[in-house]
Amino acid sequence: TSIFAAVEMAPRDPILGLNEAFNADTRATKVNLGVGVYYDDNGKIPLLAAVKAAEKARLEAMPPRGYQPIEGPAAYAQAVQNLLFGAGSELAESGRVVTAEALGGTGALKIGADFLKRLNASSKVYISDPSWENHRALFESAGFVVENYPYYDAATRGVNFAAMKEFLLGLDAGSVIVLHACCHNPTGADMSDAQWAEVVEACRARGLVPFLDMAYQGFADGIDADAVAVRLFSASGLQFFVSSSFSKSFSLYGERVGALSIVTASKEEAGRVMSQLKRVIRTNYSNPPIHGGAIVAAVLSSPELRQQWEDELAGMRDRIRAMRSSLVEKLQAKGVAQDFSFVIKQRGMFSYTGLTVEQVERLKSEFGIYAVSTGRICLAALNSKNIDYVADAIAVVVK
Ligand code: PLP
Repeated sequence: TSIFAAVEMAPRDPILGLNEAFNADTRATKVNLGVGVYYDDNGKIPLLAAVKAAEKARLEAMPPRGYQPIEGPAAYAQAVQNLLFGAGSELAESGRVVTAEALGGTGALKIGADFLKRLNASSKVYISDPSWENHRALFESAGFVVENYPYYDAATRGVNFAAMKEFLLGLDAGSVIVLHACCHNPTGADMSDAQWAEVVEACRARGLVPFLDMAYQGFADGIDADAVAVRLFSASGLQFFVSSSFSKSFSLYGERVGALSIVTASKEEAGRVMSQLKRVIRTNYSNPPIHGGAIVAAVLSSPELRQQWEDELAGMRDRIRAMRSSLVEKLQAKGVAQDFSFVIKQRGMFSYTGLTVEQVERLKSEFGIYAVSTGRICLAALNSKNIDYVADAIAVVVK
């Protein structure tokens, strides 16, 4: 018998399964709102002009392809720290922060999880209820027990902050708490600055290990505004983790560009932490690939390209916002009684629409409009050509 005879079929990834069903759908009017990707108004993944310029310069230079340092280049780490903590921040200057390039935000979470497991094997990991579907699997695969903390409140379509805070204040010291730094996926519901300040204090009071996941910096209000949570933790003097992803903000999904930053208590401690993090990386994939990180570092270190990138990022952000208001207006214009104005307040690429499993199923079967069964839709998949069709369909299924 085959050595694989006992291998069972793994369950299908719910979102990738949705894409397969979408691709197999032959209706010309079909729309995929289940994705986690930014599309432009033509329904295409953009190649940003700033990225193109940096890439062109790099290709012309035709640099050799030696191994990178295990943690990636220093210029990349510096660029990441500038985005997270602010250019020339006291924290970055202090040498207390360790930053390693990683394979996207997922890779950053994974090396962070592996490092944490070596640091404190018995801690539990807490993720928001609900959360990005890979958080649980990723921390479980690193060997942790993963539980939820209260987060989304379907009644207010916001954060149930009282329940969340009470829960955090009851956790054991050393518990790892995974927080969406901005643009919560899947709900689009973020905490206020004042609530973030209370989360910081809860982490301090209980000795928790904060792990901020920053996958959408720049998609809510801008680079610095979206870093409020990171800046509050920085100012607290606490130790914490941040994973960064440039998949969405640079539209570099397949290049796998991200970073893990760990804020430690001292420069000396940072040296020890980095030495252990390098062991984690070395035994996983040895060192990161060159291309994507080089492009991001080149864009961020050139004043012109950085400005161009910020303008392009603002363009993506504004287009998503315009789709939010337009969808709400169109639903109102169709006489939909239900109040959808909360969609305007949600931040980032997603909305928890409150559509039921049955309504999502009808959107798919009757209209070829694909959404996640939880009612999550990606606003960045809407455009001037498909929004009327989508609004009409939603109006029909919610009646
Ligand atoms: N974290 C969150 C909350 C995300 O939504 C995503 C991507 O969808 C990631 C991490 C992973 O990002 P990447 O594609 O860079 O691995």
